[in-house]
Amino acid sequence: MHTEEVKAGNITIGGGRHIVVQTMCNTHTSDIEATLAQCRRLYRAGAEMIRLTVPAMSDVEALAAIKGKLREEGIDVPLVADVHFSSEIAIAAARVVEKVRINPGNFHKDHLKACEQFARLTDVCREKGTALRIGLNHGSLGERITTLYGNTPLAMKEAAMEWIGLCIGNNFRNVVVSLKASNTLVMVEAYRLLARAMEEQGIAFPLHLGVTEAGNGDSGRIKSAAGISTLLSEGIGDTVRVSLTEDPENEIPVARYLSDRYGNRLHSSLTNLYMEGKKAIATYDAPSRERLLLDFSCDFGKMLLDRKIDEVELRGRYAGQGGEEIRLDGSEESAYLSDELLQATRRKFYKPEYIACPGCGRTMYNLEETFNEVKRRTSHLKGMVIAVMGCIVNGPGEMADADWGYVGEGNHKVSIYRKKTPVLRHVPENEAIDRLLELIDKEGRAE
Ligand code: SF4
Repeated sequence: MHTEEVKAGNITIGGGRHIVVQTMCNTHTSDIEATLAQCRRLYRAGAEMIRLTVPAMSDVEALAAIKGKLREEGIDVPLVADVHFSSEIAIAAARVVEKVRINPGNFHKDHLKACEQFARLTDVCREKGTALRIGLNHGSLGERITTLYGNTPLAMKEAAMEWIGLCIGNNFRNVVVSLKASNTLVMVEAYRLLARAMEEQGIAFPLHLGVTEAGNGDSGRIKSAAGISTLLSEGIGDTVRVSLTEDPENEIPVARYLSDRYGNRLHSSLTNLYMEGKKAIATYDAPSRERLLLDFSCDFGKMLLDRKIDEVELRGRYAGQGGEEIRLDGSEESAYLSDELLQATRRKFYKPEYIACPGCGRTMYNLEETFNEVKRRTSHLKGMVIAVMGCIVNGPGEMADADWGYVGEGNHKVSIYRKKTPVLRHVPENEAIDRLLELIDKEGRAE
């Protein structure tokens, strides 16, 4: 899909350029030294854009200080301010950094007022040469749109088209759009609908791709690669962020792989493919386990999402960490990876489905450690959707279709949600997983 060029500092998104790799700090932006240190590491790891959370006006000052220091050091990576709810903070941030990410629907409950605030923001962006991302996630769409279209990919597309229309009406075109979801089917469908709608109307704003709240480890990588690669293989997408509940440095190699592969700078290690009805038998000769996992997710994610095949069997080999050959044929690893990809593409639920945010400056506890503990203690709850979210501000809205939610409140307290409803509040952090399990158990017995 041909897209317009969007400029954010020295980086151009769209216009047929390479797929830009970006990530986000998980430090508190007000902790300038920690954020600077993380920005330096992310830049050295290959991040081409770095997003920082800006929850309060005081963080805009920190943002300016961080940007100033990085530029002094010769680090020219564009910074993106992540702003929720406040158009005033977004406007202030647009005067400081190269790009601002907002969900304009949550600026104000009154849609007309939100539109006015959005128009003022686009004026400032135009004046300052700042890029804007309209980031609409599944689960945080707002009542007006969901009443009309439900909480669906169509609603995501319709919401995006409304804000896009306002940008065009206000003669502001330095815009990137994202429609993320943790459910890969929803995410792929939403972006496809938006790409088609824009094309029909002769609009070509670049798209930022991501599977949000993808979790961590193999599952996070497989889910992200399957969703994002499906779209990139269709020419949809100009920049990617792989969200992992891990150190953000770990996101870069995965995003870089996707950028290289769909920029034709890297090829799959698949050496042979045999089809038996709707089953694919795939043979690999991969240079590492991570490459195998990414190649496999990209080679077969789209076919599974689109129901072109029903199962896939992995054969061949990959090189272990010490260079030793690890055979896949008939192995547990082969069956496990196959199950992981089937779950990532929502074709089979062989374990619980986890939704976990990557964490950011709003995170109120050790998210990665807690998430791993929740996974360890709930691994028997096959098919259940469990969310672990870093903050009470965005967490409940973003956990979309979770059955249960563990949401950090701050001050070492946690809220536990049953679907969208908080059922326990202010639970001390060290008791929260026990309480969650008790509730799940109680409900199971009642049924
Ligand atoms: S839900 Fe997670 S990633 Fe989103 S704002 Fe809260 S802490 Fe940050």
